[in-house]
Amino acid sequence: MKRALITGITGQDGSYLAELLLQKGYEVHGMIRRSSSFNTGRIDHIYRDPHEKDVRLFLHYGDLNDASSINTLLRTIQPDEIYNLGAQSHVRVSFDVPEYTGEVDALGAVRILEGIRETGLNTKFYQASSSELYGKVVETPQRETTPFYPRSPYACAKAYAFYITVNYRESYNMYACNGILFNHESPRRGETFVTRKITRAAARIKLGMLSCLYLGNLDAKRDWGFAGDYVEAMWLMMQQDKADDYVIATGETWSVRTFAEKVFERLGMPLEWQGSGEGEQGIDRTTGRVVIRIDPKYFRPAEVDLLLGDPSKAKRQLGWELKTSFDQLVNMMVDGDLKQAEREMRANG
Ligand code: NDP
Ligand code: GDP
Repeated sequence: MKRALITGITGQDGSYLAELLLQKGYEVHGMIRRSSSFNTGRIDHIYRDPHEKDVRLFLHYGDLNDASSINTLLRTIQPDEIYNLGAQSHVRVSFDVPEYTGEVDALGAVRILEGIRETGLNTKFYQASSSELYGKVVETPQRETTPFYPRSPYACAKAYAFYITVNYRESYNMYACNGILFNHESPRRGETFVTRKITRAAARIKLGMLSCLYLGNLDAKRDWGFAGDYVEAMWLMMQQDKADDYVIATGETWSVRTFAEKVFERLGMPLEWQGSGEGEQGIDRTTGRVVIRIDPKYFRPAEVDLLLGDPSKAKRQLGWELKTSFDQLVNMMVDGDLKQAEREMRANG
């Protein structure tokens, strides 16, 4: 039985990857952080009491900022594969906590790599790299050979993690690979990322639980895929003869504005835009009510205007395939948030 260690198992991707690896027969170990409130909501459905029989999912306390906890996990678990998904993953927040973001997202990666080197473990390493590395547009679509131009403390930290992964592969002949994943979303996406923020708020507006949604830059464009499809690519990258780096993307790009339009349309509240700049508003055409306003606090000190990836290397070499279309993703997220809001409404009487 193969053993995998996942950092960031309580996050969006960690939860989908854990499901996938359990389905494939792995023993799965996840690093979790101590928190004053429960932070395992995304994996509760696959977790079983370790006292039961044939349990294959185990959780361990640890932190990417704590090399001793990482080394202990490496020594005791002896994983065949390590997926480093743990991160302070929010670009806007990284401007508020730049140093911490560097500690976790940049140095966290080298702590694991150095742990592998030092213990002499024969393990494969996956680094969750990001399309944010491309930042300012140098070339579209962006592919493995496109130069990086990071535009946030998050992206700068991820650039370090990318290169240190390549460096350990070249220096120590380790199986260490980077998945350069473009934005990927799901009903489990963190509530402050723009897609989930929109689907969650729109569902609440529909049910009368919220009156207005405040957003930042509506014109930013992203290549949005479904997280469930993207974790398959992570696994495929770890099953090759030789480690390499791959772009994972849909090859389509959409603006935040279009995403919002599709969401409100799905909920029977078609949008009309009025005004411009910071005064722009989204109006529900059926009622004439303002449902979207701009709040400049969501603008970023430096913006990434356009991301559009070319996944042809992954398709060709890994046989990876995109299964979920953009419209399917939007609908899945809207329907999930509508159900959740309805549950909350019932629970609150
Ligand atoms: P999430 O924010 O949903 O999950 C992040 C995970 O990292 C959580 O489990 C979190 O734990 C954990 N974590 C945070 N800080 C630490 C720490 N100091 N030590 C250990 N664990 C920590 O992110 P996603 O699942 O969306 O993304 C997974 C990875 O992929 C991240 O590295 C992200 O930067 C990267 N990425 C994501 C993209 C996307 O579109 N989703 C695109 C490209 C890259 P807790 O639950 O306790 O907060
Ligand atoms: P990112 O690509 O990793 O930064 O993912 P996000 O979902 O956080 O942001 C995607 C884009 O949406 C960025 O260009 C943001 O500037 C833009 N955006 C516009 N309004 C908002 C908002 O209210 N919250 C967030 N998170 N992003 C917003």
